[in-house]
Amino acid sequence: EATVSKIAAGEIIENPASIVKELIENSIDANSRNITVEVKGDIGNYIRVTDDGDGMTKEDLSVAFLRHSTSKLKTAEDLNNIVSLGFRGEALASISHISKVEVLTKTDTDLSGIRAEIENGNITKINNVGLPNGTTFFIYDVFYNTPVRKKYLKNNNTEFNYILEVVQKISLGNPNIAFKLIRDNKVVLNTTIENDIKNRIFSILGRDIATNLLNNSFESESYKINIYFSNNKLYRSNRFHQYIYINGRYVRNLDISRLIEKYYYSLIPLNRYPVFLLFLEIDPILVDVNIHPKKHEVKLSKDNNVMAIIGETIEEILFPNRK
Ligand code: ADP
Ligand code: MG
Repeated sequence: EATVSKIAAGEIIENPASIVKELIENSIDANSRNITVEVKGDIGNYIRVTDDGDGMTKEDLSVAFLRHSTSKLKTAEDLNNIVSLGFRGEALASISHISKVEVLTKTDTDLSGIRAEIENGNITKINNVGLPNGTTFFIYDVFYNTPVRKKYLKNNNTEFNYILEVVQKISLGNPNIAFKLIRDNKVVLNTTIENDIKNRIFSILGRDIATNLLNNSFESESYKINIYFSNNKLYRSNRFHQYIYINGRYVRNLDISRLIEKYYYSLIPLNRYPVFLLFLEIDPILVDVNIHPKKHEVKLSKDNNVMAIIGETIEEILFPNRK
């Protein structure tokens, strides 16, 4: 059982950044407004994620680390209708099998908070403590019991950059949440709650990208598409600055990337890989997020014309005078 759990953990938890991603997604699902990530020392030795969200009761905690335990899907149909970021109930179980976990949590209705330690999916220590509302996870000694995987971690700066990338990507998709990232007591990223996504783009991607953005949007009863295109003709040799969000979730979708690249290339042939941000809101039933445990890759249902509409929206941005 322990071996199976460790192998299963490997599917989701590739590196410390995957832990950060799963914990932040849980914080978002718990309606947090402020999320802080802190790392110290060797990356993976100490990770803290603090939120001001719903918190967990003692009952919530008693099942949170069990495999396939999720509070987010109530029925089988919900699987076709995923609105939360988490739904597999695997992350906390996995994390607790490859690291040491400590959690502090308090709900609005409970009078006191709870502190608990977890190993291999089991709560080994639990007591009441005074806490503000919300949840803090401390993750220590990532891969302490799988030395080979620990050995394959990259150097600290590289592993930290993966974490930074995760926080940047998620924060671009959630401008209504304030994010902070601290490394060895130094604040590396700090955003305020924004009403305007442009401010968030500015604080995450910088002036160069933010000040050269074309924007267009399209809305029907079944979709909402909002695209920001960088007008900056700086050559890019990869898709690093292509950000696609479907229902708030950062995803990769080559069909969408290629479509946008094709239109853009016909306008600015120099630039194979334009910088863009695409926010798509669509009936979850048309999105298949279930194809990979890491939930990065998504497919859009072929039964709808969402790709055609994305194409038209892009065309309108790039060729506004054509119609
Ligand atoms: P999933 O997100 O797929 O439900 P996880 O293993 O990531 O599975 O989390 C298990 C459960 O723990 C969640 O369904 C949720 O009820 C609870 N949980 C985890 N993190 C938090 C948090 N930061 N705030 C409140 N509840 C949380
Ligand atoms: Mg989760």
